[in-house]
Amino acid sequence: ARKFFVGGNWKCNGTSEEVKKIVSTLNQAEVPSEDVVEVVVSPPFVFLPLVKSVLRSDFHVAAQNCWVRKGGAFTGEVSAEMLVNLSIPWVILGHSERRALLNESNDFVGDKVAYALSQGLKVIACVGETLEQRESGSTVAVVAEQTKAIAEKISNWDNVVLAYEPVWAIGTGKVATPAQAQEVHAELRKWLKDNVSAEVAASTRIIYGGSVNGANCKELAAQPDVDGFLVGGASLKPEFIDIIKSAT
Ligand code: 13P
Repeated sequence: ARKFFVGGNWKCNGTSEEVKKIVSTLNQAEVPSEDVVEVVVSPPFVFLPLVKSVLRSDFHVAAQNCWVRKGGAFTGEVSAEMLVNLSIPWVILGHSERRALLNESNDFVGDKVAYALSQGLKVIACVGETLEQRESGSTVAVVAEQTKAIAEKISNWDNVVLAYEPVWAIGTGKVATPAQAQEVHAELRKWLKDNVSAEVAASTRIIYGGSVNGANCKELAAQPDVDGFLVGGASLKPEFIDIIKSAT
């Protein structure tokens, strides 16, 4: 069985005071045990050591990005080696905001995922279509292409969580319906089965992201191929705890 996974992507938000407050709320929450739900929060780089040092031990941290290869003369970048050095276990790669605003291509994201895995990081790899792509009927082709660019460069999926985040649902309050999410998740799982292996298809968590909140999480979580969430806005609020609880 695939363990439910709930990630909180804090994006480029927060002051050290706000971050401490969010962590303190999380630390006091009563949630299902680590055997039932894996919880990972992703603060901006500068707050990672702080959050890691004060966060409850059953929750883990993720970086929101890392450099594509070994570190060196790459001003402004943070390398996978540095994350490993600080015992940061997870990294989010290929988020649509980086694909769109920073021109990260499918190929570049594939290289990043492969390098991060090679260094021992666990990866939340994001895929998702724009509204235009959905309306033109190319959703499945788009997410398959994005997944292919990753699959071509890795041989072991044990440390990968695939996040389906339709761009039109991110930060818009326009959540995918449970049926829409289920349909794409099932297609992604089928893609993995046909192009990687039946084992990888059965064991890889495919999580949904895009306007998930405390009110809509339960119905989404009930879909057979939705194995958790990647939460943006609501992960900064106490309702993130309700989303974690949707695991059961
Ligand atoms: P929102 O939950 O704010 O829509 O963001 C989703 C997201 O991009 C998570 O990575």
